[in-house]
Amino acid sequence: VCPTAALTQISHVAKVWEALSDPDKFVIVQTAPAIRVALGEKFGMEPGTIVTGKMVAALRRLGFDKVFDTDFAADVTILEEAHEFIDRLQNGGRLPILTSCCPSWVKFIEHQFPDLLDIPSTCKSPHIMFGTIAKTYLADKMGIDPEKIVVVSVMPCLAKKYEVVRPELQHEGKKNVDLVITTRELADMLLEAGIDFASLPDEDFDNPLGESTGASVIFGTTGGVIEAALRTAYEWLTNETLEDVEFHSVRGLDGLKEATVNINGEEIRIGVAHGLGNARKLLESIQKGESRYHAIEIMACPGGCIDGGGQPYHFGNLEIVKKRMEAIYTEDRNKKIRKSHENPEVLKMYKEYIGEVGGEKAHELLHTHYTKREKI
Ligand code: SF4
Repeated sequence: VCPTAALTQISHVAKVWEALSDPDKFVIVQTAPAIRVALGEKFGMEPGTIVTGKMVAALRRLGFDKVFDTDFAADVTILEEAHEFIDRLQNGGRLPILTSCCPSWVKFIEHQFPDLLDIPSTCKSPHIMFGTIAKTYLADKMGIDPEKIVVVSVMPCLAKKYEVVRPELQHEGKKNVDLVITTRELADMLLEAGIDFASLPDEDFDNPLGESTGASVIFGTTGGVIEAALRTAYEWLTNETLEDVEFHSVRGLDGLKEATVNINGEEIRIGVAHGLGNARKLLESIQKGESRYHAIEIMACPGGCIDGGGQPYHFGNLEIVKKRMEAIYTEDRNKKIRKSHENPEVLKMYKEYIGEVGGEKAHELLHTHYTKREKI
């Protein structure tokens, strides 16, 4: 059972239509990495068809004022998470560090392992980081009153609807992301608007929050977050260029995966779990003091976000999941920049607005805390 009770969440679609028809609102949309490799299925395209450009064009036709990419914030997540990992590694902090971008997994550890709440990364999830950035940095840059900005997230995930109301993720008492729709709900909106998706031209995301790297795209599949973090942590720790950025041992659909990477003569051990049963095994080993990992990625959905609860149904056909996964890695290979810490627009934002990675403002805007909850 999904720990966020996401299956009972209501639809935000009517509120999105309302915002789009309100001339006083500046409505921006962000799309998670997993949407672009699955949305086409709803329009008769082969599983694994990459529809990034058509998706952007379709969102513009719906009337969004700006079409941005959650991947921008995924790159920001990697900078903050890699910094946090290195800080813990070098200063005797608690290890393993656990990734924190999946709200179902976060809710699971809060209820089931409240004694371990000092080990997940304190990074907000990418779409929540995006919302905070949009209502602070972007609002400042564009001279728009943040009260007028409506942030809509298109997510592969039902639990993201719960996540946006978590008080721990609000900034100055206000929601960062206003509304969440799923891949299936976006497809329904496009059909309702009479948009002929297949015949749309390819268009680019708006800037600055549309710029992203290959590292951010792979967030959409199991193993992707930790692989992206490794690309950055390796270069920051060694001051050397990582020539081969692909870590194949953390890829694929095995429920538990691991990798060992030699960094400055030390063997850094990585664990990956997807599905909460697999997560429980890793957490129990940490409780018993038996874990040998330095960093662990956990995603609640088997396969990660490509197989999230808001994606087009595949009725158990894992070939479809594999094709979405292959498409994610193709999208990564197609990117000119494949390391998060080389995203020029992210670096510009730190220089102009946030300051240091892991610094005071970064903590105020991009980090969170966790809450012990009753065992259920
Ligand atoms: Fe949502 Fe599933 Fe992705 Fe977690 S793994 S963020 S629950 S889609």
